[in-house]
Amino acid sequence: MTHIVMKFGGSSLADTQKIKEVARLIIERKKETKNVVVVVSAMGKTTNQLIEMANEISLLPNKREMDVLLASGEQVSISLLSMALHSLDQESISLTGWQAGIKTYGNSMKQRIKDIDTSRISQEHQRGKIVIVAGFQGYDEDDNISTLGRGGSDTSAVALAVALNCPCEIYTDVDGIYTADPRIVKNAKVISRISYEECMEMASLGAKVIEARAVDLGSRFGIPIKIALNTGQGQGTIIEKGKKDMLEENVINNVSVLDNVVLFNVNNFGKEPRQVLKLFEYFANNDINIDVISQNFNDDISFTSKKEDLEDVKTVISKFTDHKYQYKDDVIKVSVIGNGMRYQSGVAAKVYEVFTNEDVKFYQVSTSEISISYIVDQCNKEKIVTALAKTFDLEKGDHHEY
Ligand code: ADP
Ligand code: ASP
Ligand code: MG
Repeated sequence: MTHIVMKFGGSSLADTQKIKEVARLIIERKKETKNVVVVVSAMGKTTNQLIEMANEISLLPNKREMDVLLASGEQVSISLLSMALHSLDQESISLTGWQAGIKTYGNSMKQRIKDIDTSRISQEHQRGKIVIVAGFQGYDEDDNISTLGRGGSDTSAVALAVALNCPCEIYTDVDGIYTADPRIVKNAKVISRISYEECMEMASLGAKVIEARAVDLGSRFGIPIKIALNTGQGQGTIIEKGKKDMLEENVINNVSVLDNVVLFNVNNFGKEPRQVLKLFEYFANNDINIDVISQNFNDDISFTSKKEDLEDVKTVISKFTDHKYQYKDDVIKVSVIGNGMRYQSGVAAKVYEVFTNEDVKFYQVSTSEISISYIVDQCNKEKIVTALAKTFDLEKGDHHEY
């Protein structure tokens, strides 16, 4: 193998000590692979802090300026990491998104990667340097600095692996993908191999460990992705094309939680289908992701959105209707996921039993071929996730092997 892309998230770069440790791991990896590209996120919670500062100045900050502001976080990490490598006598260079040739398009703060011109990266590799690229950012058709949406540096990493046609390793603060968030379910098990499809479902239903867009890219271009601990220890998880025997697994392989969900209810709106259509078209055209939509008997329309889009959604609803609306911004989406759901029934009944036994109510339900999701109060998160993990044998010591 001549190339490798390694990605480190904010949790692995939270302070300068951690940056030095990451530098040592990169040098170890470079002994095995000639050309190393490292993609990094902003240090620790930097991106959140930058957003808070912007919100102290404005409730709806200008999105182009937000791109400029948020991209600054990753620029701190690339330079510090490159300095850490230099101090270990390793040649390296930091590149911003545009210097690395990452061209993007679309709406500010939610841009997509159009293509990557890897010539600068190759030049630096020929000079023997490790190339450190700022994740989460690029430049758009008008040469503006752009960002890819929260968690976007996973996508930067896999996109670079696609452009360089090499594997991608994502290093984080856990030693692989688990059957449930190990912070909630202490006994959750590491999954050694997972199909792109199941992983994508998990990621889009909230398992933060990798971004769904990154898995989708990996799947479309056949790029193997490994999730591993930021110390390099442990086996990690390989995300790859589903094998036939994967279909014979557990019915449910994972419980995921999407935090920061908002549930909206617009009164009587269902009586105006044309306006509803316009509203949803507007959301779609502006990359405002609307989820779990339902219309009930008294023609109220309910749907969920991400909390980061709350102000936008409120503004848009008021634009399209005079009807009253309510929202709850303290809910989450809890999902059970498994390829085996295609072939076996009874999952919904079993989940319903768990909700009844735990005395937890849910507001909305949605399903896909391989998952069922429930909108529940945030305060019930630990209780319901732990109970579901127990019910579906997702803890260590249970008899299923992965
Ligand atoms: P990074 O800073 O490296 O991008 P993230 O915080 O985005 O890391 O993702 C890692 C976190 O994802 C872990 O600390 C863990 O709490 C969480 N997580 C949620 N679901 C899962 C899961 N199924 N397996 C592993 N980690 C998970
Ligand atoms: N720093 C960005 C964020 O916090 C990108 C990333 O971490 O992937 O969303
Ligand atoms: Mg992340």
